[in-house]
Amino acid sequence: MTLLEALTAARQRIDRLDARLLLQHATGCSHADLLARPETPVSAPAGEQFMAWVERRATGEPLAYIVGEAEFRGRVFQVSPAVLIPRPETEVLIDLALERLNGRTAPRILDLGTGSGIVAISLALECPAATIVAVDVEKGAISVARNNAGRLGAQIDIRQGDWFAPLAGETFDLIVSNPPYVAEGDPHLTRDGLPFEPRLALSDGDAGGDGLACIRHIVATAADHLNPGGWLLFEHGYDQGAASRNLLTAAGFKTAFTHPDLAGIARVSGGHL
Ligand code: GLN
Repeated sequence: MTLLEALTAARQRIDRLDARLLLQHATGCSHADLLARPETPVSAPAGEQFMAWVERRATGEPLAYIVGEAEFRGRVFQVSPAVLIPRPETEVLIDLALERLNGRTAPRILDLGTGSGIVAISLALECPAATIVAVDVEKGAISVARNNAGRLGAQIDIRQGDWFAPLAGETFDLIVSNPPYVAEGDPHLTRDGLPFEPRLALSDGDAGGDGLACIRHIVATAADHLNPGGWLLFEHGYDQGAASRNLLTAAGFKTAFTHPDLAGIARVSGGHL
């Protein structure tokens, strides 16, 4: 089987771009190799690996879990089914956080529910003067985050625990989070590869609820862990902006705001003490 034959076979089953990326991962060839030398033979083991991956992709498994990595903000992160796959809209959270850190000399930052660590690691690499603590409740996520921090050279204190539980007595200048916020009954959870992602990272598990249980807990508890003037910023669903601002205001945060993502969808809310 040649590269071109492998691609042609895969394209009966899956999307063209996915087929190309899987073939590159299976063979170690670059996109340029595929274009310039499509007649190159694929070794038997690489061909078998590729066709097995194509079958997995055809069942809806996200490409990132098949190849074990995904890109976020120009960096490659290891991912496993213990963590969410990075979403480009989460970049808004990073941009807003960096704006708020401007001018602070040695800020202390907390990332709650770090998962693969994309938020904490991006902030550590883009704000090297910061001290960063990242928390996740899942052992599987902790090991992925530690691995990513090590591979990307980010200094982060990564701790296992339930939200603020491992942070008794500690305060920060900025708390960020991409918490679970999809309502338990939302049909979105059954589509677009979401069934392959950890439910604990997507939804608060509150059947019949509004998806805001984790956000409620974070907003209600954050003030105990923020320095005077400190900021809280968190990602949420397209229809949770107003509810998020109300929660922030009720908890004593000033100038509660909501910021849209690149698609114009309400995505991150926050405020400061
Ligand atoms: N935005 C993601 C989705 O709707 C969910 C991310 C999250 O729950 N934090 O697929």
